[in-house]
Amino acid sequence: MSQRLFNFSAGPAVLPVEVLEEARDNMLSLGDTGIGIMEHSHRGKAFVGVLAQTEADCRKVGNIPDNYRVLFLQGGASSQFFTIPMNFLSSGDTADYLVTGAWSKKAVSQAKRFGTPHEAASSSDRNFSYIPKTASYSDNPKYVHFTSNNTIFGTQWAAEPEPPSGVPLICDASSDIFCRPIDVQKYRLIYAGAQKNLGPSGVTLVIIHDDLVKAGALDIPEMLQYRTHAENDSCYNTPPTFGIYIMGLVFQWILKQGGLEKVEQANREKAAVLYDHLRESPLFEATADEDSRSLMNVTFVTGNPDLDAKFIAAAKDQGFDGLKGHRSVGGMRASIYNAFPKQGVEELVKFMKDFESQNG
Ligand SMILES: *Cc1c(COP(=O)(O)O)cnc(C)c1O
Repeated sequence: MSQRLFNFSAGPAVLPVEVLEEARDNMLSLGDTGIGIMEHSHRGKAFVGVLAQTEADCRKVGNIPDNYRVLFLQGGASSQFFTIPMNFLSSGDTADYLVTGAWSKKAVSQAKRFGTPHEAASSSDRNFSYIPKTASYSDNPKYVHFTSNNTIFGTQWAAEPEPPSGVPLICDASSDIFCRPIDVQKYRLIYAGAQKNLGPSGVTLVIIHDDLVKAGALDIPEMLQYRTHAENDSCYNTPPTFGIYIMGLVFQWILKQGGLEKVEQANREKAAVLYDHLRESPLFEATADEDSRSLMNVTFVTGNPDLDAKFIAAAKDQGFDGLKGHRSVGGMRASIYNAFPKQGVEELVKFMKDFESQNG
């Protein structure tokens, strides 16, 4: 096998080696069943066991109370952009959106199909390089929606926004779910496409309060009602079995690390290696405001697009893959999700220093 690179991809992204090795071992036969994990019926005992264990471990990792359902859906986080307003907004209803990047903007655009979203805050004036400190909520929003980590712009909410009292808080946590402890009770719905911090693409984790399950619309297709999936333990139709299996291994990996406190500590140490260097670098500069910087996606530039391109190419030559930033920010983005090893950021900083001395 060729050597594994340092994979800074924003998603699909790096997974723990232990998880991949265990999955490999169960590809041809899950345990001693004689049938590979992908070949098991979703109604059979083996997979039903995997599903139950995955849910139980998810609840343990996230300390999720019993009055929340844990659902494993398809269609990516992008399908939640329309499923949420389709369930909870009628024409004439308002929902408040905190707009901190391209994904929040997409969520707003889909809400417009069902109701009247109100942008209660936005950081578009400075190309989403910060998290807004205030919001002007509307009088009677059905919910408040925010994006906890802005994958493209390298910003992250340090803590949840505080919606008006009694208004459900809904979060797109696709790129930072379980990067640190989370108080699920502050939310009514949390969703995340798996491919950044939880597993392969193709499965979306949804954590939803029972009240919201009940509150959903009844006059929409059954596949798009949360109650359908809640009542059928995510097996109304064939669920993404392989993705659920890998997600389960990732939850076990998190528990083995010591849980989310330990994961956060590791993430803070990793991110600090990069941000500390960016603060003193004569060449590179972080693009996000100091108080808004993401633990998961570190965005930085030289200020010279040609030099950025030279750096990305040189880095790739040295085994640092996926560092090209999103076109709306330019420059570089180092995505350092839970599974990304600290050694990778340390070696990247060493390489940055070499590059600085040759190009300073
Ligand atoms: C990647 C991402 C999405 C889109 O996820 P899909 O699963 O591709 O639909 C949505 N929101 C955020 C914050 C993301 O990082």
